[in-house]
Amino acid sequence: MSDTVYPAPAGTDDSIDATRADAAWQRAASDPEGYWREEAQRLDWITPFTQVKDTSFDEADFRIRWFADGELNVSANCVDRHLATRGDQTAIVWEGDEPGETKTLTYRELHRDMCRFANVLKTLGVKKGDRVTLYLPMIAEAAAAMLACTRIGAIHSIVFGGFSPDSLANRIQDCDSTVVICADEGCRGGKRIPLKANVDKALAHCPGVEHVLVIRRTGGDVSMTEGRDIWLHDALEGVADECAPEPMNAEDPLFILYTSGSTGKPKGVLHTTGGYLLWVTKTFKEVFDYREGELFWCTADIGWVTGHSYVVYGPLANGATTVMFDGVPSYPDHGRLWETVDRLGVNILYTAPTAIRALMREGDDWVKKYRRTSLRLLGSVGEPINPEAWNWYYRVVGDERCPIVDTWWQTETGGILISPLPYAIDLKPGSATKPLPGVQPQIVDAEGKVLDGATEGNLCLTDSWPGQMRTVWGDHDRFFQTYFSTYPGKYFTGDGCRRDADGYYWITGRVDDVINVSGHRMGTAEVESALVSHVKVAEAAVVGMPHEVKGQGIYAFVTLNAGVEPTDELRTELRQWVRNEIGPIASPDALQFAPGLPKTRSGKIMRRILRKIAENDTGSLGDTSTLADPSVVDTLVAERIG
Ligand code: ATP
Ligand code: MG
Repeated sequence: MSDTVYPAPAGTDDSIDATRADAAWQRAASDPEGYWREEAQRLDWITPFTQVKDTSFDEADFRIRWFADGELNVSANCVDRHLATRGDQTAIVWEGDEPGETKTLTYRELHRDMCRFANVLKTLGVKKGDRVTLYLPMIAEAAAAMLACTRIGAIHSIVFGGFSPDSLANRIQDCDSTVVICADEGCRGGKRIPLKANVDKALAHCPGVEHVLVIRRTGGDVSMTEGRDIWLHDALEGVADECAPEPMNAEDPLFILYTSGSTGKPKGVLHTTGGYLLWVTKTFKEVFDYREGELFWCTADIGWVTGHSYVVYGPLANGATTVMFDGVPSYPDHGRLWETVDRLGVNILYTAPTAIRALMREGDDWVKKYRRTSLRLLGSVGEPINPEAWNWYYRVVGDERCPIVDTWWQTETGGILISPLPYAIDLKPGSATKPLPGVQPQIVDAEGKVLDGATEGNLCLTDSWPGQMRTVWGDHDRFFQTYFSTYPGKYFTGDGCRRDADGYYWITGRVDDVINVSGHRMGTAEVESALVSHVKVAEAAVVGMPHEVKGQGIYAFVTLNAGVEPTDELRTELRQWVRNEIGPIASPDALQFAPGLPKTRSGKIMRRILRKIAENDTGSLGDTSTLADPSVVDTLVAERIG
């Protein structure tokens, strides 16, 4: 592992430096009431709260409530309150699938679109507390639709546009949505996605859906069911430009979002109004050190929590300008991100290790073709970022000028929990560094014993933070059982973690994925990083496999860089490479070259499926509905070693 340290650069007078970061962390820990009372002033409250924190992780009096008697409205915080000072500032820059297919929306225009959309929802009978499912491309109307739901107190549930009709139907049924909002078609990487046709198929199994609101995106042919389906542009005719924001209790539900499904059946994570909005407002401002006038680009889809928190709610609540990208990093070519950065003048780029590794694989020339001088800060989220990929991002993309914030968080946490504050914390490639103020991580062993100092174990959080999820929709018991029963009194993240002597946190992968070789517990991240640091390797995934002597052996799946031939010599070389990098214990027992790895639709490697292949137990792959490309699995099964 890399031990290089990159000292934090100096920020502006307003940036959080090391002294301020320490003071905030101490204050949040010693006086949470006072700290959060002040922090909550980042939001506009309709009815000020008197209660601040009311939480307990103990089974006997389990509860998570923040600012519980306050009232506010999310859309008013994200839009209305900016109108007086920045009504004509761009709120959203929409970048289509084709480069240069761009549209901008000012805060005033967003206000009008959102209000009109909300009025349409009202005419369809949508009321406070009703669930509305969104199945949309990354178009500006998607943000307007989200905000329109919050305007009237409806709970949105966004389903990623890449999901199949079955997956969509499951998610609609799980939360009993009565209205679905979709587009005729989506465009991604030059291909059309039949969104409306997928909805039609899904609704054959969803009798509870009364209306489908269809947005025209491509003009493609779709069938409309009379009485049920309505074009948005028709519904908007004659609709008023104003819609008063519904006063919502801080603990009223804001949205439901299903997790990526890396470990199994997705969970319907419920977030509420006040705590969630405060958390994303604060973390967006502090982690990205967002500065007036800057252009922020988070490449995530709104179908994932990253898109909720850092494409829409966090940026807009801060009056920022946010990019909504309806394309993919590889279309029309591998220079797309950098071409777009230059053309739009992007200052902050926030993307995922899977995208970074995929672009790294194609070589530096695609990046160097563009200037990228507007970039100030880079971010990463979604998986552990291998030091190799971190260094490439830092050196090649950022020209050694832009700090990288490696942000660890989960759908469940609402927003970022462990991350550098870029002008306060020295960076170590591959480490998410330290907890943000108000975040209290703890590392425990399998029995729950607290491990102090430099150590490795299971990552828990000992106390609540405002952005924490409140329940699993429709199954409060599953919520408690999943997160609070493993280590009583603590929230268990499911992730493994190492803390070094400087107090830096290194996420080692999911605890379920830990491999035990001859009694040595190994996280997947370390072995994978060693493989990826070889010049010929683009991506790697390792899992345990049964081994007669060692208990478990290491099975590695390796994707090579573009143009590299898979040979037996290379296989031997890579096993030797890991042996040199980490030690003999980590040398893979089996190494299979993989043209592609099974990933969730958000781009995360699904080791659960690879484990089944390694164990030669391919009859029971479990829930594969969240796989991006199921055909990858067939190839891996066919070429399995042993
Ligand atoms: P499911 O819970 O359904 O299995 P998921 O965990 O992939 O799916 P998400 O909430 O999208 O769903 O992902 C959160 C997880 O992603 C974290 O628990 C962690 O394993 C991983 N992760 C996110 N960011 C980072 C990061 N910066 N470093 C390391 N791991 C990360
Ligand atoms: Mg998870």
